Amino acid sequence: MTDSSSALGQERAAVADACRRLAAEGLLIGTAGNVSVRAGDRVAVTATGAVLARITADEVTVVDLDGRVVAGTLRPTSELELHLGVYRRYGTGAVVHTHAPMATAVACVLDELPCFHYQLLALGGTVRVAPYATFGTSELAVSVLDALDGRGAALMANHGAVTHAPTLDQAVEHALLLEWACGVYRHATAMGRPRVLDEGQQRAVIEAALARDYGTTHPVPPVQEGNR
Ligand SMILES: [Zn+2]
Repeated sequence: MTDSSSALGQERAAVADACRRLAAEGLLIGTAGNVSVRAGDRVAVTATGAVLARITADEVTVVDLDGRVVAGTLRPTSELELHLGVYRRYGTGAVVHTHAPMATAVACVLDELPCFHYQLLALGGTVRVAPYATFGTSELAVSVLDALDGRGAALMANHGAVTHAPTLDQAVEHALLLEWACGVYRHATAMGRPRVLDEGQQRAVIEAALARDYGTTHPVPPVQEGNR
């Protein structure tokens, strides 16, 4: 089946764009990592073996939610089960998996990234590290799905990171935020033990963000005549 509704031309191009951006930012290296976006019951996902810094829409495959290929000529990522699992369990719109250096370093040492900076609340707060399992296995998918409960991100022990969000742009932003936070955490721990935000402080951030529509731009109100 390759009719236009299942071909997801725009989504395939968007996935390729997202990969090239994440590669330019240093989060995707070589062929390591994979990205997908969902449109209804179809998922556009990177092909296994594609060099992500120069991936094209032709190297993005379309599958259904059971993993059957419906468009494209290349075999999808070996972490397909993980991507599909995130869509099924969390009803999300896009998934990004990287072996980004800072996130992977944290995932090699810690059991969680504590909520030491208020921006981590955009990911749900403390980021869990899913126990290690061999790449591409159901065991890994289950482990990561559990770690994502109530979160937009999870780290994968001795492996990398996963983020998800309603849109592809947001999932990419989550990946960039997580990598930044892991880098800051590394610098902070070099100086001592970072303070962690307590529950009250975290709740106040969420309330302030909701009240101020934080994270979006706001036009300055026009200057009123006679009010200059
Ligand atoms: Zn991986």
